[in-house]
Amino acid sequence: MLSSAEVKAEARRLGFDLCGVAPAAALPELTRLGEWLARGYAGEMTYLHKSAATRADIRQFLPTARSVIVTGTLYNVEVPDVERPGGPGAASASGAVRVARYARGDDYHVRLGERLEALVAWMRSRYGEGFDAAVFVDKHHVQERVFAAQAGLGWVGKNTCVIHPALGSWLLLSGVATSLPLVPDGPLSDQCGACTLCLDSCPTGALVEPRLLDATRCISYLTIELEGPVPPSQRPHVENHLFGCDICQEVCPWNLAAPLTSDAAWHGPVRDGAAAAELWQRSDQSLHAFVRGSAMTYTSLARLRRNLALVIGNAGDPALAEVLDRPGGGVKNAAHSAQTALVQDAVAWARSRLADRAPR
Ligand code: SF4
Ligand code: SF4
Repeated sequence: MLSSAEVKAEARRLGFDLCGVAPAAALPELTRLGEWLARGYAGEMTYLHKSAATRADIRQFLPTARSVIVTGTLYNVEVPDVERPGGPGAASASGAVRVARYARGDDYHVRLGERLEALVAWMRSRYGEGFDAAVFVDKHHVQERVFAAQAGLGWVGKNTCVIHPALGSWLLLSGVATSLPLVPDGPLSDQCGACTLCLDSCPTGALVEPRLLDATRCISYLTIELEGPVPPSQRPHVENHLFGCDICQEVCPWNLAAPLTSDAAWHGPVRDGAAAAELWQRSDQSLHAFVRGSAMTYTSLARLRRNLALVIGNAGDPALAEVLDRPGGGVKNAAHSAQTALVQDAVAWARSRLADRAPR
């Protein structure tokens, strides 16, 4: 019989920093997704509504599931200290972009998927073919956070991230549901205490209460998931975020001493601090090269260009207005991302915001 300890040791050998086991049970926390969806907090993420039944019951993901092996992978790397414009009405900034830390590395869907398949292959080499297994990495219909907390990988912080007492919250969660009856681990206690730093620091008030995120207000949603225009009231709050937002993790005391990962998979090209004006003046092909190989490819070039226009508008330097006339690479081509109504709308907003700040 395969033991939990053997599975965890192999997971660590394959490069996972944390591994625990949760029962494939109807955990009470799984029901909160339905309430969250009913409040409209998912916005345009209709795929969450469509997959809600599966996400609420791991047995709909794998009918024979008895155990959920959950892995945590540290992706913490040094990042440049990129100045924030500081929100609505603040002084000008350089137009340097900020990029969520997880996008620094390889596309984690691919890299972690490979490691999980290797873990399953090892389990089959040890136990034979007589069991079912299904891997999950973010895009699959599993509430990783709930099972991670149940498996003792950390507690769910008030910023909604799983926090490990030694590794912090810069963790990619993934795992394997299996029909094998592995001995489960237990949850850790909540160690947020009276702290409210993440709620107080969120620029958009997206953390409406501890552990409750209104995604429609979250900069990660606005810059990555939202296909349409960013609501005008939220555009100043996007500040200089090109892709995602890490503020509620950056301020968390549990991340102050979080170790850096030595795993080369998460040490890709540094994109933080790139000049929005330079990126804007790239052709679509060159802009695609900027994001290639990372999770940033999960959003469209038009959305990235929309975000760039907002960043330029928020940078507050009126001299940047003329840059908006020069998106690079054959803009007469109707297929150029800058020609889309989505981007044109953001450009018009950026022009007007920069004009407001020009000396009169
Ligand atoms: S990611 Fe940014 S916008 Fe979203 S909840 Fe955290 S601090 Fe707020
Ligand atoms: S910032 Fe404070 S309240 Fe928020 S997750 Fe971290 S410890 Fe918890």
